[in-house]
Amino acid sequence: MILIETIEKLKEVLFRIKSNGKTIGLVPTMGALHEGHISLIKKAKSENQVVVLSIFVNPVQFDKPNDLERYPRDLEKDLLLVESFTDIVFAPSVKEIYPTEPTEKYNFDELENIMEGVSRPGHFNGVAIIVKRLFDYVQPNRAYFGEKDFQQLAIIRKLVEQTKDDVTIVACPIVREPNGLAMSSRNQLLSFAKRNIASKVYGIINKSKALGTPNVKKISEFVLTEVKKFELVKLDYFTIINDATLQPVESLEDAKGVVACVAFSVGDVRLIDMIRFK
Ligand code: AMP
Repeated sequence: MILIETIEKLKEVLFRIKSNGKTIGLVPTMGALHEGHISLIKKAKSENQVVVLSIFVNPVQFDKPNDLERYPRDLEKDLLLVESFTDIVFAPSVKEIYPTEPTEKYNFDELENIMEGVSRPGHFNGVAIIVKRLFDYVQPNRAYFGEKDFQQLAIIRKLVEQTKDDVTIVACPIVREPNGLAMSSRNQLLSFAKRNIASKVYGIINKSKALGTPNVKKISEFVLTEVKKFELVKLDYFTIINDATLQPVESLEDAKGVVACVAFSVGDVRLIDMIRFK
């Protein structure tokens, strides 16, 4: 495994690899790696000859300075964790990626005017900026993203459609803690007790699915009522949507490709999750 910190060096190394006709899988992350990230890396390794893992806490996708500041970072630990199944780790500085203020503006219309796009203004433009730049530097055959960030996945697919980049987007399922909580770098910011409380939301949504009703209003009411029982949990949104258009579904009857997306805070830590309904 090699650690690369500059774009120039990355391009130079990848040029040699590509000249040998090798396929490249890219896994973009913000570090503080956990089993969820590892599952993406392993998938990339199984489908490509060379895996590039990027570790970069992308400032332009944070809407709150405090969230950026306290985002967990531990490069040394990350490197040890991925050593045996990553070929290249690209961990640039902020200056390297953004020597000047980025000015790219993307438009994802109805895909971004909902959920995270509403709660975190500018977030997806920031995500698109870094992902597009990474695609340009690496020019991967495939890029791997987690379904946990379900809206992000849809937006990246749209980005590729718009830019016509020749890259296959591979979606990977959510990896969870034994208690059901979706793994997230932000979980590190929670005490053991709070992690346990956070896992209750997953339990509630699973229960709402098990109600077996096609009535989306009823399902949502159930989730809202149950979540309210946990004082520390503040629900941002719970929404049942079509998995391709991301538009709300009114009834589960006859609907195909339905997922529930949720965002909530436990204390001052904001988490998201997703569960497939159909
Ligand atoms: P992040 O470092 O949080 O930006 O995540 C990097 C990538 O890992 C994104 O594509 C995420 O969707 C994915 N990811 C994060 N957590 C999980 C998880 N628990 N299971 C699967 N993929 C995940």
